Amino acid sequence: MKIIVAGGGQAGCTAAKRLKQNLPDADVLLFDADTCGLYAKMRLPDYIAGKVAREKLILASPEAMRAQGIETHPGETLEKIDPAAKEIRTSAGRSFSWDKLVLAGGADAFVPPVKGIERVKTFTLRTLHDADRLIARSETAEDAVVIGGGLLGLEAAWALRERGLAVTVVEFMNRLLPRQLNEAESAVLLEKLSGAGLHFRLGVSAAELEPGSAPDRVKTTFSDGSVQEAGILLFSAGIRSRIHPAADCGIQVNKAIVADHRFQTSLPDIHAIGDCAEIDGRTWGLWVAAKDQGEALGDILAGKRDSFVSPVYAPSLKISGIQLKDIRQDASAKPQ
Ligand SMILES: Cc1cc2nc3c(=O)[nH]c(=O)nc-3n(C[C@H](O)[C@H](O)[C@H](O)COP(=O)(O)OP(=O)(O)OC[C@H]3O[C@@H](n4cnc5c(N)ncnc54)[C@H](O)[C@@H]3O)c2cc1C
Repeated sequence: MKIIVAGGGQAGCTAAKRLKQNLPDADVLLFDADTCGLYAKMRLPDYIAGKVAREKLILASPEAMRAQGIETHPGETLEKIDPAAKEIRTSAGRSFSWDKLVLAGGADAFVPPVKGIERVKTFTLRTLHDADRLIARSETAEDAVVIGGGLLGLEAAWALRERGLAVTVVEFMNRLLPRQLNEAESAVLLEKLSGAGLHFRLGVSAAELEPGSAPDRVKTTFSDGSVQEAGILLFSAGIRSRIHPAADCGIQVNKAIVADHRFQTSLPDIHAIGDCAEIDGRTWGLWVAAKDQGEALGDILAGKRDSFVSPVYAPSLKISGIQLKDIRQDASAKPQ
């Protein structure tokens, strides 16, 4: 059997490894847009903060995957799927046939179409390359505006703060983490983070972007008419699942690639896992979910498991000294 896995993040690497363990005679080919192999995305804020070395982020290099019997193709992406011929075409212009195809292309950072965005330099944090760009810019930038006060936005803001920048977090909602915390808990978190030196603008969104007073500085006008300029403008406004090239070959997509409890897409022998997949209408966008799905798919395709029902995952905030459970406790201990 020949299995192609497209995407070498947590979902794809885990699936490739599990497939090779379960089916040692199968040819498992792993294509990845990145060249460095699997790395710990969740530690990128620590890397930006200077708390972890670049090489410590790498969890499985292409060579390490090869040593496990997986044929790795770093830097070569899946460009086109021909479901009838059971063939893919890659960015290197090569064609490969498959018996099973696993789509694990993950997601991109979402950048909202703010007026004037094409005139300025902006940042996101999704990849190691993004982190390197932020580190390079923060060598000279003194301040940053982070658009989006979700878990990742707060972690990225904290990392830049730890590099010594003055950081303002802008959140459209009028309180922090409304999906994770109630109003009293949000207020405690705001107090703690403000006390630790982060600045906040709540209840506003970015309305227009313009070049600032110096090269690479960005002037943001907010929905309430206020204006702020910064050396780094970082968007942390959620993710967009990578639905191409699946969508181009007729696979059913919604916000992500629609898959069932066996990770089967609407086309036979094509499966989707991780941040690019939507199961029961949900994409978790979480490391542990990508791992669980990769392992489960490896077992399902080997006939060791029938189907996968996702647990409910609870994301955490990784800012040293600030735990969501402590925030909840502090809030409930406060007199009303
Ligand atoms: C900064 C940051 C912090 C995070 N912190 C946490 C956390 O604390 N807890 C948590 O649970 N989750 C966290 N996450 C989310 C978690 O990292 C992701 O949910 C997880 O990495 C998803 O894995 P994935 O393999 O589905 O996708 P990805 O990690 O996006 O990997 C997809 C891979 O596919 C490649 N690819 C894309 N298109 C193609 C193509 N056409 N052909 C070949 N390869 C392709 C990409 O280059 C990439 O290597 C964090 C994410 C980020 C960015």
